[in-house]
Formats: sequence, C-alpha cells, structure tokens
Amino acid sequence: MAALYSGPFPRPTAGYTSSATPYHHWPPGRPPRWEPAVSIAPRSPLAFKARYVFPMVGPPIPGGIVTVAGSKIVAVGRRTSAGRVLELGDVALVPGLVNAHTHLELSDVREPLGQPGTPFVQWLGEVMRWRGQRDASAPLAAVEKGLWECRRHGTAAVADIVQPGWTAAVAAGTGVHVTAFLELIAPTEARAAALGEQALAHLRRPRSGHWRPGLAPHAPYTVVATLRRQAIAWAAQYRVPLAFHLAESQEEIELLRRGQGPLCEFLQSRGASSGELKGGLRPLDFLRELAQAPRTLVIHGNYLDEEEMAFLAARRATMATVYCPRTHAWFQHEPYPLARMLSLGVRVALGTDSRASAPDLDMLAEVRHVVAHHPAISPRTALELATVEAARAVGIDDAFGTLTPGKQAAMATIPLPQPEAPDPYELLLEGTPAAVELPDDG
Ligand SMILES: [Zn+2]
Repeated sequence: MAALYSGPFPRPTAGYTSSATPYHHWPPGRPPRWEPAVSIAPRSPLAFKARYVFPMVGPPIPGGIVTVAGSKIVAVGRRTSAGRVLELGDVALVPGLVNAHTHLELSDVREPLGQPGTPFVQWLGEVMRWRGQRDASAPLAAVEKGLWECRRHGTAAVADIVQPGWTAAVAAGTGVHVTAFLELIAPTEARAAALGEQALAHLRRPRSGHWRPGLAPHAPYTVVATLRRQAIAWAAQYRVPLAFHLAESQEEIELLRRGQGPLCEFLQSRGASSGELKGGLRPLDFLRELAQAPRTLVIHGNYLDEEEMAFLAARRATMATVYCPRTHAWFQHEPYPLARMLSLGVRVALGTDSRASAPDLDMLAEVRHVVAHHPAISPRTALELATVEAARAVGIDDAFGTLTPGKQAAMATIPLPQPEAPDPYELLLEGTPAAVELPDDG
C-alpha cells in the first residue's frame, strides 16, 4: 500500500526522512497530467505540516499538523507523535472537497454549450445533440476524464449522475469516492419498466470503499410518477440517497403550474412528454414525496418559494439543496436565494454541475464564485458548503468533509499568498487549484 502526494505538494526537504521513491502505480497507459512527487508507505504515522490547517471543525490552525496512519487521519493539531513530518510549506491544508452534483459523462464537453443566458430549453436541446453525436464508448471515457479532473482540483468525493452502462471500475483507479446516482429518464411506462430493472441491478451491485449507489429520477417532467415513486421506495428499502432536479428553471415552474409553456412544447416536440403534468402542481408536491426517502439531494432548487425552503429547513437532516454557482450564472437565472436558505436553516451543498454548463470541475472556483457574488456569505461559510455541509448532504460525512481523526486522509492543498489576512479563510481566495492526497484503502 502506498500513498500519493501530488501536484503542488513541494518536494520534501527538512524533516522528511522516508525514502522518496518516485511513485509509479498509475493505471497503465494513463499517466496523470501532473508530476507525481513522492511516494511513501504510510503504515507508520506520517505528519503533514502546513502554514494553516483548516479542519472545518474548529478554527484554522496556524502551523497546524495532520497526522495520518494508513488511509486515516489519526490526529489534528499543533503537535504530532509521528516520527516523520512532511513540511508542506506555504499552503493551506483543507479537507478534500466534495462536489455534490455533477454529470461526469459530459466531461468531454470543452466549454459550456450555448451562450451565457441561453434559455434552459434550448440548452437541453444542445445537450441532447451532443449526446447523440458521440460513439458508444465516449460517455464512460468522459467519466474517467472527469474523475481525474476532479482529483486534480482537490476533490475527494463526487455525487455523480450516472448512466446505464456506468461501471464502478472507472472510479476505482482515480482515488475519488463516487456516489453514483443512476439517472432515470422515462417519460413512458414501457421505458420506466425497463429502467426499473436497471435501477434494481444498480442497487444490487457489489459495493466497495470507492463508491456507493444512489438513484436519480431526473426531474418532474422527465420521469413518470410510477417510477419516481418506485425509486423513492427503493431508496428506503436499500438505504441509498436520491437526487432529483427540481425548481431548476422558470419554464419548469410554469409547466408544473399551468401544464404548458416552452418546456412542455419542447418535450412534446421530442416525443418526451408523459402527458402527466396538467397543471396545478408546485415543487412542494414533489418535496413531500421525496421526504419519504432516507436522504435526498434537491438539485438546484433555484425557484423554490418560502414555504418550500421552510419545508427543507425542517428536514435538513435528510434533505439538502445543491447550488451550482457558475452553472447558475451561465443560465443567468434569478439570483440564488443562498443567504435566505441558510438563514432559514436549509442545508445547502455546492456542486459544479456538468461541463455542459460549467467551465471546469474546480470546486474551489465555485467557492470563490459564492464569495464574489453573495456579499452576505463569508469565505468560511462558502468553504463549508463545499466540504462539511456537502459531505453531510451526500451522507458521506463519516469519512469526508472535515479533518477529523478517524476520517479518510483525503486532503487538498491550496497555495497561500504571502501577507496575512485578518480572516485566514480569505487567504484561500487566490491560490491555484488544489491537489488532493488519497491514500489507498489498504
Ligand atoms: Zn444536473
């Protein structure tokens, strides 16, 4: 078993006494795009010292030290009993980031589809066109590409919407933990029956430490009610989380309310309308159903009203919204009610969404976008939404989200600027994307 320290980690100098042998355990034929720096066998405790450690439980620790044994954190503080201390230098050490929503099968899209402000319906058409022109092997290759991109940007875990044909093997080599929400798009009962079989097979796959299953009945307008309700029942039976796109666009709200409008016309023109939505509905109707699942990620929730936010706040232990800041900006939606949600007590996590609407999979860029565009949100809160809060929302906070003894030693570094800041979290707003360290499970 070995651990990999990559990217911006400086080469070890003083204090580092283990043999610095180059690490060559990359999957054959797939070298990383960064230079692996050192390898070590962390069976005996190893400590990492940084200018600041941000445990995300308690305040930042200047000159902090995280001690790791095997794949786990064993101590966080200013002292260590480890015989080996790796001096990381002028960086922040933070928990590996958690991306609470993405579609990695679109990671081969070079830049967001459409133009800023592209109507949602038009963008959906662009995505369908993109998917239609790819060959069969492209989506899985894109997933793998996306996972490596996540890792390169310091992301330790993703909540990914996956397609039938997804395989856990694609995640195993990347060191990024995947919660794999199988996407259920079924506007007809016949399609629902076929997809239901695949959903059950997905839930019954052998699990490993690198991934776990979830289900994603896509949205109110793409999956018939029978399969949506069946997915909720299965989520309860198999104790897995759900992801559901809800209140994403005004066109969707109009479709729910009136049973017509541009989204309705788009679906009908593609033969993708179930004909079930006849008006008189609102997101709350769906939230009430979703509350029956053991855990639900409400993807986007851009146009939830006060009553709906209060509903989520009352269920924050099991329901969260996922805000995708740069994707939200790409569509030029109404401003996201982030401060309002947080003040009501809604659990909010950050995600990138796919590269069809975000420029890359860099979660730190999402954090920075929040700080830049939501004056009421502090840098600390923004980082929490991409670490501890995201891990709780996805249900992986037993292993990720904070630097706490017993959790996975999945950490990221962020180079820091020279001058100090009154609030150490402000130091995180400049450095280049972080690298991540993920020891093997062993
Ligand atoms: Zn999505």
